[in-house]
Amino acid sequence: MTIAVLCGGVGAARLLRGLVRVVDPAALTAIVNVGDDTEMHGLHISPDIDTIIYTLADAIDPDRGWGLVDETWNAMSQFERLGNPTWFNLGDRDLATHIVRTERLGVGDTLSQVTEHLAASWGLGCRIVPVTDDPLRTTVTVADGEISFQEYFVGRRHAVPVTNVRFDGAEHATPAPDVLPAIANARRVVIAPSNPLVSIDPVLAVPGVREALIERRSDVVAVSPIIGGKALKGPADRMLEELGHEASVVGVARLYAPLAATLVVDEADAGSVAAVEAEGMRCIVTDTIMSNPERSASLGTVVLA
Ligand code: GDP
Ligand code: CA
Repeated sequence: MTIAVLCGGVGAARLLRGLVRVVDPAALTAIVNVGDDTEMHGLHISPDIDTIIYTLADAIDPDRGWGLVDETWNAMSQFERLGNPTWFNLGDRDLATHIVRTERLGVGDTLSQVTEHLAASWGLGCRIVPVTDDPLRTTVTVADGEISFQEYFVGRRHAVPVTNVRFDGAEHATPAPDVLPAIANARRVVIAPSNPLVSIDPVLAVPGVREALIERRSDVVAVSPIIGGKALKGPADRMLEELGHEASVVGVARLYAPLAATLVVDEADAGSVAAVEAEGMRCIVTDTIMSNPERSASLGTVVLA
């Protein structure tokens, strides 16, 4: 039974951590957002790919929720001395990932090949693929103009209202080689509980991906990142409202109904089942708060059932 999972960062990483416990990891392909990718100090950084790799490797820092555990920050003070920007924190151990990625891209490897190398280096059994090997960058419009996703998310601590989101380069991007076959051949396609507007939408914006999901609609299951009208973390709830959607499982259902037959919602939203079904999705209620690997695995079982 092969599984394809559309992924952002943290929410997706937590679900994958559960799925690898309930299916053969070799059967699992994670298709990951690259709209958050950025260049810093001449290095190519892929935050969502790294969050997934570090989480599955059990090497993510549990308190910060990003980057590596047992991290030190010597390079950051050096960057400051040398006059480089320091608003985007990169740990010393983490820097090795970005240096290796950049080096390999520089000699002509694709992002897919580099990601495969990084995942294999950590001994991961599942396949992790960027949605595209082409440049695709999410930008957001705020009061003083259009800024990159990381300037919004890290630089402004996602504390400013957003009036538009754009996926620069998406229309000229092609899906990475494994992406469409993984979706076409999967027994089940899962949309992880990631931010619908800045984690899942950029994946769907790569020409062919949205269409591939629509083809498989009856086998596509989405997990709501919104619980009781709130995001567990991050700006998903505010962003939904700022961009004219509803910050609720019903709002999520309206976005996903064209491409997914089923929405998994949290017990906190049991009262919204009829409203979700009125949007044309089957609705499954379960505990979706993945506070530990066991709870991730339970949710994984429900998603695949
Ligand atoms: P990022 O790329 O690291 O910002 O993360 P994602 O886009 O993957 O995920 C952000 C979303 O994941 C937020 O809206 C959270 O509410 C959601 N999320 C994080 N952890 C969980 C969880 O355990 N359960 C559910 N249902 N959603 C989660
Ligand atoms: Ca992200």
